[in-house]
Amino acid sequence: MASWDPKYEPVIGLEVHAQLLTRSKAFCGCSTSFGAEPNSNVCPVCLGLPGVLPVLNLSLVDYVIRMGLATHCSIAPRSIFARKNYFYPDLPKGYQISQYEEPICSGGFVEIELEDGLRKRIGLTRIHMEEDAGKLIHDIDVDTLVDVNRCGTPLIEIVSEPEIRSPREAYLYLAKIRQIVTYLGICDGNMEEGSLRCDANVSVRLNGESELGTKTEVKNMNSFRFVEKALEFEIGRQIGLIESGEKVVQETLLWDSGQGIAVPMRSKEEAHDYRYFPDPDLVPVLVTEEWIQRVAETLPVDPTVRRDRFVSEYKIPMYDANLLTAEKPLADYFEGVVRNLKTPTEENYKLASNWTMVDVLRVVNTENIALAVFPVTPAHLAEMINLIADGTISGKMAKDVFEEMRTTKESPQDIVGRKGLVQLSDTDTLEKIVDQVLEKNAGQVAEFLGGKSQVFGFLVGESMKATKGRGNPKIVNELLRKKLETMKK
Ligand code: ADP
Ligand code: ZN
Ligand code: MG
Repeated sequence: MASWDPKYEPVIGLEVHAQLLTRSKAFCGCSTSFGAEPNSNVCPVCLGLPGVLPVLNLSLVDYVIRMGLATHCSIAPRSIFARKNYFYPDLPKGYQISQYEEPICSGGFVEIELEDGLRKRIGLTRIHMEEDAGKLIHDIDVDTLVDVNRCGTPLIEIVSEPEIRSPREAYLYLAKIRQIVTYLGICDGNMEEGSLRCDANVSVRLNGESELGTKTEVKNMNSFRFVEKALEFEIGRQIGLIESGEKVVQETLLWDSGQGIAVPMRSKEEAHDYRYFPDPDLVPVLVTEEWIQRVAETLPVDPTVRRDRFVSEYKIPMYDANLLTAEKPLADYFEGVVRNLKTPTEENYKLASNWTMVDVLRVVNTENIALAVFPVTPAHLAEMINLIADGTISGKMAKDVFEEMRTTKESPQDIVGRKGLVQLSDTDTLEKIVDQVLEKNAGQVAEFLGGKSQVFGFLVGESMKATKGRGNPKIVNELLRKKLETMKK
């Protein structure tokens, strides 16, 4: 439910910056590695010393083409860089190299899926290349410190059309952008650490109105939730102003997550005139059809397409497929397991899904490790599922095998052999055990036959105990049921 007066319609457009995972900076050979000694990854080019010339890193162009293709943009055969001029201590050059009038990508869209299952396209105005500024560190003890390592780090800016209609849609849009950039491997998508940043433009208007209202821009939100919350706040504030006969002023606000409010920036800081002009030091970027083709050939499958295929091919629930395709490494892991199944049945696909979603993901999340270094390989997990499927081990034994695989990296076969973890599936042996249990617990059997059906669980437990936990629970269950059934007669 909307938390604002439904007489009004919010209009939202997002500007998202994604820090690219190229090894070197946008216009020089400096490293982009994170966490280096402050002011160590710098050179005359990214410091903007006089007399030096920038040279475009072609990986940056590869990456932005990847993004453009994945979001259905048209890629301009010719685009140019512009200087965005402003003064700030984290920008030693006094200008930022960006694209203004002729961006490389334009006119694409991103599809989001609303809670009711409806899909909605959010148009993209443009995606352009630019460089990042440095970082100011407001040290309490010393003073404000400047670290220029980040100067010149390549970014792309993804600008949406004002087609987002609620904070929830903004959240879903951002989540989709993150999924796309991480799938493409061009950005790590970490909003908390600032590799993905979002400025939100928002206005409100009466339902049915075709003109856009005056917008404000909200900055400083470092999580998806904060973007949603900040928009909720700002929509409420704007409607409040209008309802009390005042006007919305076009300004920039900063989200204060501690107080849960957005406060206007001092107006001086807002009063910018960037005086954009084409950068005379950089030649136009010419992208040929062959270049686009080359990039297109390396694009991964669209995550939504892959998710739908998981549902149709492996018959797993949509919930599972959504979770498994949220990130590419996880989807690859799951398919690695599936590919190694001995008998590809619906039941085994679901086992593969459960073990990946629950057991693998739990460890990866709690230990905060990458799937690439997860000790249990997809092949080993599949082998373990094969052992469950052919009755060699029980689901409960599998939990032990899984823990062993995590610590020793041994194959499940080896673990099962070493620990003697073989399930008892021999019906004759199990029948003898069940008979003994029924004899020993004549009282409970009588209760069961008298109608107390919950005693069945107790008898299963006693039988399993008698097998020292090794009995095949399915066979034990069947045997007990059959025996008690005949006793009833
Ligand atoms: P600016 O000139 O302030 O940078 P732009 O027209 O370039 O504004 O748009 C920046 C972002 O603001 C885009 O994402 C756009 O969709 C969004 N936007 C533009 N006008 C409005 C509006 N009236 N209400 C909400 N969002 C808007
Ligand atoms: Zn440099
Ligand atoms: Mg603009």
